[in-house]
Amino acid sequence: MLIHTIDLIQQVHKRGGAVVAFNTYNLELTRGIVVAAEQLQQPIILQLGVQSIKDYGEPLVAATVTAARVAQVPVALNLDHCFDLDMIEQCLAWGFSSALADGSRLPFADNVAFTRRAVALAARYNAAIEAELGYLAGTEDGITVAQKEASLTDPTRAREFIEQTGAALLAISIGNVHGYTSSPPSLDFERLAQVEAQVDVPLVLHGASGIGKEGIQHAIRMGIAKLNVNTEVRSAFVKAIAGWGVRVGPEPDLRQKDHDLLDLMQGASATACRVATQMIQMSTLLE
Ligand SMILES: [Zn+2]
Repeated sequence: MLIHTIDLIQQVHKRGGAVVAFNTYNLELTRGIVVAAEQLQQPIILQLGVQSIKDYGEPLVAATVTAARVAQVPVALNLDHCFDLDMIEQCLAWGFSSALADGSRLPFADNVAFTRRAVALAARYNAAIEAELGYLAGTEDGITVAQKEASLTDPTRAREFIEQTGAALLAISIGNVHGYTSSPPSLDFERLAQVEAQVDVPLVLHGASGIGKEGIQHAIRMGIAKLNVNTEVRSAFVKAIAGWGVRVGPEPDLRQKDHDLLDLMQGASATACRVATQMIQMSTLLE
């Protein structure tokens, strides 16, 4: 069932875990993620990125909204990193209950001004704004930021930022990196504790890939309420398709078992389901 992002995060956070927010790109990936959530009886967030919406528009959004509505567990819909207020409004009108208004590359005062506009816009749709302070190294939707340029979230600034913007969720930068990195990123847990002490909205950790189970569970215990997962499921999906290509060769024989498009889609979806299952278990069953 479709549920508001904030209600969902509060439900899960009360139990002492984090909600996994999975980026999805198509129906097969969505199906794999939702089946994982249903099998574990855990709520999840589905997120779409700006590039996917530019490429596939309302049909992709409609499929994602419907998948959330018919799911056997609570599912919330979030728009990931967006700097375009028109697109945020469009997605809220289409049924998303939250969006990441990402002004993290702006100077502080400009980020505040941008985020305030997004919050005012979202209020008209009873929706919530995730904001970001400090930005992440790595890549997302074609944007590359040199790791050395990455700036970490300042705890005092974080409090001012939330007070001045009214954002409902805060994505923080504590050494996390988008995508895989050559060496595992190390998280600044002391900074996380300081931000947690200063800010009373749920905190979001992006770039969970490569941090490892121990680091992620520690971050959740210290207050991370929403964990963004993209790379793991996305790359597993790609590998499943690549493996299918190797297996069937350049000329698939549709009369043979496992050569058909339906087999390809089901196989990739099942692979996404397996990886999503691991991520949900890691975020909800804290050891
Ligand atoms: Zn992100």
